[in-house]
Amino acid sequence: MTNWREKEAKYFLRAGKRMDLLAVRGEGTRIWDEHGREYLDFFGGPATISLGHSHPVVVDALVDQAKQLIHVSNSFYSIPQLQLAELLIEHSCFDRVYFMNSGAEANEGALKIARKWGKEKKNGAFEIISAVNAFHGRTLQMITAGGTERYKAPFSPLPEGFIHVPFNDADAIRQATTPRTVAVFLEPIQGEGGINVPDDDYLKRVRAWCDEQNILLILDEVQTGCGRTGALFAYELFGVEPDIVTLGKGIGSGVPLSAFLVKEHAAVFTPGDHGSTYGGEPLTTRVGYEVMKYIIDNDIPGQVAQKAKAVERRLHSLMDRCPHVTEVRGKGLMWAVQFSGDIGERVTNDALAAGLIVNNVRPNAVRLAPPLTISDDDLEHGLTILEHVIEDAIGASK
Ligand SMILES: *Cc1c(COP(=O)(O)O)cnc(C)c1O
Repeated sequence: MTNWREKEAKYFLRAGKRMDLLAVRGEGTRIWDEHGREYLDFFGGPATISLGHSHPVVVDALVDQAKQLIHVSNSFYSIPQLQLAELLIEHSCFDRVYFMNSGAEANEGALKIARKWGKEKKNGAFEIISAVNAFHGRTLQMITAGGTERYKAPFSPLPEGFIHVPFNDADAIRQATTPRTVAVFLEPIQGEGGINVPDDDYLKRVRAWCDEQNILLILDEVQTGCGRTGALFAYELFGVEPDIVTLGKGIGSGVPLSAFLVKEHAAVFTPGDHGSTYGGEPLTTRVGYEVMKYIIDNDIPGQVAQKAKAVERRLHSLMDRCPHVTEVRGKGLMWAVQFSGDIGERVTNDALAAGLIVNNVRPNAVRLAPPLTISDDDLEHGLTILEHVIEDAIGASK
């Protein structure tokens, strides 16, 4: 049998860590390895495969569109792109949309708009206020915006114009604001930073400050968008409307697609300002259209909000039983379980051995982000495995 792990060691540019799983097939909430062993996928991409692995809606869209038209330049009109545009605009607070291929690129587009808006409408203001521990992607500008030191340090000099403040601290944003500030750029709930849920009034206070100061509010909903939090977009949960939002991950349920959506007053791009070879091509936008239509038509956000109650109940009862589980936090189907010590890796590995894929989002925390379409039985089963693994790991680390 081919030793794929040896090939990886020999040929692959290792820029990230892998877990010891060679995935060969996926269906719904399950993945199978090369030996046919089955795993429940509570990592989900991360948070990417919104409809689960190889959902028929995605597969049929891919096959049907591939036969018709895979790619055509953005110099031409194409139908799936415009169908998805209409669907997103009609179901959000925004007026215009542009499509890209990845979360980082959607964020780049959003910040380019903000810079141009600053030049045209705000005396050349250019500074972006973003949060410590944020994650916005891996381009040079996004590692700078993200404020995680270890992602940035090897790659300096970095782009200018970013100010970092603690997350969930609206006063810090007020204090960091200067006449040069053009935008505040935040995740509504920090995903890669460990599922950090802000206070209910945080984004409202930030929105009010941005209004008062004529600053754009840009929300990165690459992880929180498209039903993940139990609302179609997380900004609805917090009762605010940003000026720009970015979407990625779940919008394509595993197919590379992202978007930035803008309100009219901020939509300052004019022809020639932006572009992408693949962004918005028929193949990926057809998938995005069918995925979003499925999410909306089947009230997936409402179902997610229901399932969240079961997750919350189970995780809180785990916390009550285990003093070493210090916090559980999340919304919808994005949750973190935090421990008193750095046992995240051990829990992740033990869960894998027990047939459950979770992710150690922090050294002391694991993240759960299963497909939004997960059945109640699979959800309960996965949580049961996780509880046993955590209890064992805590027993062993005492
Ligand atoms: C994953 C993620 C990104 C980056 O998306 P890529 O597709 O990897 O570029 C950006 N922002 C948030 C909030 C994310 O979770």
